[in-house]
Amino acid sequence: MTATVQFPLHTAVREFLSGPHGLLIGGEWVPAASGRTFPTYDPATGEKITDVAHGEAEDVDRAVAAARKAFEEGPWARMKPNERERLIWRVGDLLSERAEIFGQLEALDNGKSAMIAQVVDTEWAADVFRYYAGWATKIEGSTVNVSMPFVPDGQFHAYTLREPVGVCGQIIPWNFPLLMASWKIAPALAAGNTVVLKPAEQTPLTALLLGQLFEEAGFPPGVVNVVTGFGDAGAAIAAHDGVDKVAFTGSTEVGKKIVDAAKGNLKKVSLELGGKSPNVVFADADFDIAVPGSVNAWLFNHGQCCVAGTRLFVEDKIFDEFTQAVAEAAAQVKIGPGLDPATQLGPMVSQEQFDRVSRYLSEGLADGARALTGGKPWGERGYFIEPTVFVDVRPEFSIVREEIFGPVVAALPFNAEQGVEAAANNSEYGLAAGVWTRDVSKAHRTAKALKAGSVWVNQYNGFDTAMPFGGYKQSGWGRELGAAALDLYTQTKAVNIAL
Ligand code: NAP
Ligand code: MG
Repeated sequence: MTATVQFPLHTAVREFLSGPHGLLIGGEWVPAASGRTFPTYDPATGEKITDVAHGEAEDVDRAVAAARKAFEEGPWARMKPNERERLIWRVGDLLSERAEIFGQLEALDNGKSAMIAQVVDTEWAADVFRYYAGWATKIEGSTVNVSMPFVPDGQFHAYTLREPVGVCGQIIPWNFPLLMASWKIAPALAAGNTVVLKPAEQTPLTALLLGQLFEEAGFPPGVVNVVTGFGDAGAAIAAHDGVDKVAFTGSTEVGKKIVDAAKGNLKKVSLELGGKSPNVVFADADFDIAVPGSVNAWLFNHGQCCVAGTRLFVEDKIFDEFTQAVAEAAAQVKIGPGLDPATQLGPMVSQEQFDRVSRYLSEGLADGARALTGGKPWGERGYFIEPTVFVDVRPEFSIVREEIFGPVVAALPFNAEQGVEAAANNSEYGLAAGVWTRDVSKAHRTAKALKAGSVWVNQYNGFDTAMPFGGYKQSGWGRELGAAALDLYTQTKAVNIAL
């Protein structure tokens, strides 16, 4: 019996799954030029859900041409900001109206809890569309008081315009498929760009359902195009001369390939990459909130978070007691398929990801780490892994250095006299960090010392649509969310008029 049968699906989800799943190009749903398709799987069972069009370089060409046409000629280019605002807002409302449907579809394709996918992933994606809808009417240039000393008698009127970049290629991962699509598409549209989106091969479905909403909201054809496919389709976008900007979220390894590929036409690049984030717990922290908060830090979304707080630094005085409490809380988490309303921890997204996490577990144990809880796969089928808390680890272990992207944390003690900052910053990554203390001065000092794009104090995953998000060091280039994302999707023109 599949998870699908055990947990009945919404009629709209069943209807969506029964249809063909083409590419969205120029407002039409079309098969791949090759006619090929590929399957997407339910990670709770390993069974196929449905097939989607297998987009390749030729399809990317078609989508880029459609996006170019929409940018240069279509009604989109002539639309007023308040018209764009209304359209983008409408997508947010449609997402909210259908949050249950999107939640179920995401759970099926990705493995995460349908309930969480509904109230976190989908409602947040809706919020992102509404937030950037508001920005469409608020993107402004400025007037500049120029001096022009070499034209002593001249008078001038100088100002800046903030204009869209053009055709934006956007490549996203499988951990938050719908949410990552919203972070990418919404600010690009607010600034007046057009988009070619490539979802991850493991989780193409919610991007396709989202594609339908643009049609329904009344967007002109070609403004948003969706090409489902594999890494080669992403590579074709990154290298395409018709693409003006590429935005990527995923592994640091592929991020570097994007940079290489973008060199041809020097397209603008923004990157949201990996992490190995420190979560620092001082002995004076509120134990009762720091324990569940520190579990959430590495276990949320099954550890498949770029910001996961997977290096847990605990002050030596409370190390044994704290890590034991974290292990006990993690061991109680209910594991199961995402469609089961009781599930708190679902499967890894794919066989490949399951194998990768399993390999890290073996390596950690072989290196001499001790698992306070977990350390092995769970269940008889599907890609489940037990939540795992490792102690007796050393900074050079692969489980401490490398991004695992699974439900695995490595705990390290620190001595407050010697400080924790150097150890916490000892990483090629710098995406996020957590700090737990009741001492407000210590909180600010530590937040300042940590080399990370986001620091969360007495909480973890303290995201907000209005707060900029992005990485120090090898965790990325640029900032998404907030007003900062508009910098990624606009370019400034300086106009100087001699009067
Ligand atoms: P990935 O390879 O970086 O995939 C991210 C996206 O890039 C996917 O849409 C992928 O397409 C596409 N892609 C792959 N090769 C490409 C290329 N040469 N040029 C352009 N696009 C390309 O990540 P993954 O393989 O799914 O996961 C591997 C590891 O990356 C994870 O274990 C984790 O450590 C890390 N990761 C990080 C994040 C994050 O949010 N920072 C997210 C996901 C994964 P296909 O999937 O269709 O091949
Ligand atoms: Mg899938």
